[in-house]
Amino acid sequence: MIYKILNESNFAGEKKVKKNLLMVLYLLLTLSLMAQTFPFGDANHSGTVDIVDALTIARTYVNMPVENYYPEEADVNCLDGVNIVDALLIAQYYVKLIDDFPCKPETPTPTLTPVPEETADPNAISGLPTPQTSGIAKPNGNPGNMVILNWAGFKGAVSYTFDDANSSQINNYSRLNALDVNFTFYLWTSRSEASNNIWAQAVRDGHELGNHTQSHQQNASGSDADAATNFIKQKFGVTPYTMAAPYGDTSWASVAQSRFILNRGVNGGSIAPNDNSNAFNLPCYLPPSNASASAMNNMTDSARSQGKWQIFCIHGFTGGSDGAYQPIGLDQFEQTVTHVKSQGDMWIDSAENVGAYWLGQKSVSRVSPSRSGDDLVYNWTLPANFPPKKYLRVKFDGGTPYQNGSPLAWSANGYYEISLDAKTLTLKP
Ligand SMILES: [Zn+2]
Repeated sequence: MIYKILNESNFAGEKKVKKNLLMVLYLLLTLSLMAQTFPFGDANHSGTVDIVDALTIARTYVNMPVENYYPEEADVNCLDGVNIVDALLIAQYYVKLIDDFPCKPETPTPTLTPVPEETADPNAISGLPTPQTSGIAKPNGNPGNMVILNWAGFKGAVSYTFDDANSSQINNYSRLNALDVNFTFYLWTSRSEASNNIWAQAVRDGHELGNHTQSHQQNASGSDADAATNFIKQKFGVTPYTMAAPYGDTSWASVAQSRFILNRGVNGGSIAPNDNSNAFNLPCYLPPSNASASAMNNMTDSARSQGKWQIFCIHGFTGGSDGAYQPIGLDQFEQTVTHVKSQGDMWIDSAENVGAYWLGQKSVSRVSPSRSGDDLVYNWTLPANFPPKKYLRVKFDGGTPYQNGSPLAWSANGYYEISLDAKTLTLKP
């Protein structure tokens, strides 16, 4: 049951929890197996069942102090916890009036088997969510023909971005965060709401804080964007790698180009792998006021069927007093996110995470490898202002890829994870 719940987790935040849970389960399992090395009835863990165990239980029963007492071995009739009847049963057993206890604990059968290296959770490396694909063998054809999986191995991608640091985002943060996907919050930093501690919590929860400028002015200003970046760095300790232009004004494109990997505009549209969408005026879907969940589902369903990335631009939720532009119902938003999550094959993540994958894929897919002996060497460059610790999921017809002198592990989900920071990869036969 627990394993089933664990396996139904699909997203990055849950993966960390999953890993920790597994560790705790292994620990508990180990402890419970250790405990079973003492015979049932050995309430003081002396190694044998004798009259001292009966006395230990009897003393405990009347609240007298005892030296060693292990109740997990003491409830020998498996009834009403440990009580004086258990002490009597152990005494009877000791004088051989009975040859067994009314019950025996079930021998725990380990249901969790250690994960073999080949299928090791790749999130340990990239932090990307794991697609549902599984049991895929490492290709053993001719070394070469790098294929970069679109959207980290998912059918499509969705980024939900929230603008202006509106109070209806802050007030509803716990419900938003409970959806357990990474969002992007574009902070308009001269507003008092931008100083709210909720944004520090958002960072801890894995969400992205992006730049929506300091003054939210229509006309682009490098210093205005820099002031917002400095605010976010100093206040929340993170570097914004993406921005959203106030009003989607296209004058911000050149300011963004020299500072960020992408700038979200407000024009409608979606993005395909390796396409020529302008990274500094990326399209999005801006739901109308009170948009229904089904209207929003239509956008993500379409991205799913077309293998595209749909960005949402949302300003806030109905029922607040922040005057958010075109607010939507939080319940409708929860429904649409739940809908996308339930499909299981869509990647929901921040603009930074999906954008870095989209841009990284474009950078690496342009590369023609050079031959060095029997090896193929792929070298690439990354866009300016590119965030560190980003990965791509790739496969080859055959061969084994190396980075930093070490072979990369094949994931049974159908890919290798390659570090973009390394900027080079060697494919060996
Ligand atoms: Zn705005």
